[in-house]
Amino acid sequence: MSTAAGTAASGPFAERGSAHDIEEGATFAPKFDDAGVLAAVATDADTGDVLMFAWMDAEALARTIETGEAHFYSRSRGRQWKKGEESGNILEVVEMRTDCDQDSIWLKVRVAGAGAACHTGRKSCFYRAVPIGPGNTAGLEMQSVGGAPLFDPAKVYTGKPQP
Ligand SMILES: [Zn+2]
Repeated sequence: MSTAAGTAASGPFAERGSAHDIEEGATFAPKFDDAGVLAAVATDADTGDVLMFAWMDAEALARTIETGEAHFYSRSRGRQWKKGEESGNILEVVEMRTDCDQDSIWLKVRVAGAGAACHTGRKSCFYRAVPIGPGNTAGLEMQSVGGAPLFDPAKVYTGKPQP
């Protein structure tokens, strides 16, 4: 077995072949890490903005493919979740890509509901800019760049922990 080989956590997906197969072949054979998850990033299908980052286990990935709506796996809660299941801010997948070694996923999405991908109510989870340059790394002050929240999370989530 090569180092490109997958783990038993590949779920319903194809067995991983050679590195050449994985990089150049047409067979989708995603690789999950030792915890059984892979990284997934979602971007706005229209603007290209990065909206959120999360993890998927094999089941969440399969559900995303079957339904066209993004499902993820919460490592802190230990369960699969559908983005927008409570808020209505479902991520409708326009295109799914995987990277060269098939261990991460890129979702190009349109956000339903209020149009906010972040549980804080903002469009994107990446709403703060960290300053670049020499200085005091222990006291970096971030800049707010995400705009105002598009919904009030206190009214949408009733005290439940969010991923
Ligand atoms: Zn967020």
